[in-house]
Amino acid sequence: TVAQRPCSAVETAPVTPLRVSGADLTVLGVPGQINLDYAATAPCLKAAADAVTELLPWYGSVHRGAGALSQRCTLEYERARQTVGDFVGARDTDHVIFTRNTTDALNLLAHALPAGTRVLTFAGEHHANLLPWPGAVRLPVPDSPDEAVRYLAAALAELRRDDTEREILVAVTGASNVTGELWPIAQLALIAHRFRARIALDAAQLAPHVPVDLGALDVDYVALSGHKLYAPFGAGVLVGRGDWLDAARPYLAGGGATSGVGDATHDVRWTDGPARHEAGTPNLLGAVALAAVCATLEAADRYALHEEEQRLLARLRTGLAELPDVAELRTFGPDAARIGVVSFAVRDRDSADIAQRLGRDHHIGVRDGLFCAHPLARRLLTEASVRAHWPTTPATALRASIGLGTTDSDITTFLTALAAVLR
Ligand code: PMP
Repeated sequence: TVAQRPCSAVETAPVTPLRVSGADLTVLGVPGQINLDYAATAPCLKAAADAVTELLPWYGSVHRGAGALSQRCTLEYERARQTVGDFVGARDTDHVIFTRNTTDALNLLAHALPAGTRVLTFAGEHHANLLPWPGAVRLPVPDSPDEAVRYLAAALAELRRDDTEREILVAVTGASNVTGELWPIAQLALIAHRFRARIALDAAQLAPHVPVDLGALDVDYVALSGHKLYAPFGAGVLVGRGDWLDAARPYLAGGGATSGVGDATHDVRWTDGPARHEAGTPNLLGAVALAAVCATLEAADRYALHEEEQRLLARLRTGLAELPDVAELRTFGPDAARIGVVSFAVRDRDSADIAQRLGRDHHIGVRDGLFCAHPLARRLLTEASVRAHWPTTPATALRASIGLGTTDSDITTFLTALAAVLR
């Protein structure tokens, strides 16, 4: 076998986290267009665009070249890893693996599960956290965070009664992309660990709104997407315990994942650490942009941002509650703590038609559909229709979601436009 040539800059230079001088929270947008679809994809922070622009002239291969451009790109990539890891409170033994998005990160974890691992998840999850797990036990959609805790404790007790040895992974979201509800992650983690299970957090919706700290939550893995966190498309991350990941076959087999390849097909030494699962030329710009966002958010007063978001969310929810003068509208989910996401349906109205008219006539982007969480969205639509005695259940719902850059004027314009469309 032939050893890979080491990259001297990475060996000699200390990798320090990226620091930004201040928290410039400007997001990019198009004048006249109102984006209320942050839960699908948030606008890009200017800090991310600046980081990409600065690095573009330095375009060079990561991890493979001896030239100055390549050396800098390698350093930037590893520094981005450090910054993103710090952003989610990665512990020393955690791996920070760049992926395309949350879906990719959770599929990577599913791929790395030891044989025979049982996975427990909730039926209310996004498909990205429902579908990757082979033979998962799907707990019913809980009515409240407390119920989620009870369901999990009962299911884990039963699994452990049957088998005291096997590995168990609990895979849960931190905040629902349908109702915006926040889940009691720290309590779920406590219960998971009490039964010697691990817990993976789908933070796709949580991370843009609430600081995530792996250590404080005592969570084993976290997955998130850059494009929901004010970074561009194409970069996400899986952060978490290294042992299963280092023992698994590489998620992507190819260059960068090996430390040596011989002539025989079986003669390959796979590397440990993040590189094991990141074969191929990595998305350097995506990683650097994601890191720039993480550093910017770290430098910001996230409590103040949360308060402002809650104020706008309250305006949005109150406004929707007052609309039934023009049409009968039901919002989903309890009045529990939630991120800036509100889903709703309107009696006898087609959600897709409403969304299209908001887009076409009012330049407002909202989401319609079942939000890649079909079991949960269908259940909410049915429950709302039955409770309100609607003659038919709408096939799909609408969702408005907000975040950095959303203004009072956006909310007012949306509510006025929605009333006009419904009239
Ligand atoms: N989990 C949740 C809760 C989500 O809202 C989403 C995106 N809607 C995902 C996972 C998947 O994210 P991505 O499409 O970026 O992989």
